[in-house]
Amino acid sequence: MTLSASPTVETPWWDAYVRLSDHCVTCPTCTAVDQQGTNLRLPCTTARQLSEEHRQAWRT
Ligand SMILES: [Zn+2]
Repeated sequence: MTLSASPTVETPWWDAYVRLSDHCVTCPTCTAVDQQGTNLRLPCTTARQLSEEHRQAWRT
């Protein structure tokens, strides 16, 4: 999926995707990196919830 293909009408999956993206760049857990700058991919309850919402919205 490319960001340039953003739909003109807001869809539930798009809304969920935006919320997930917003979370991932602002959440201290999701953005945690090690000394090499590699994302630690720490488990984040909110991110998991948002990504689950996105998956479900995508299916409908
Ligand atoms: Zn997070």
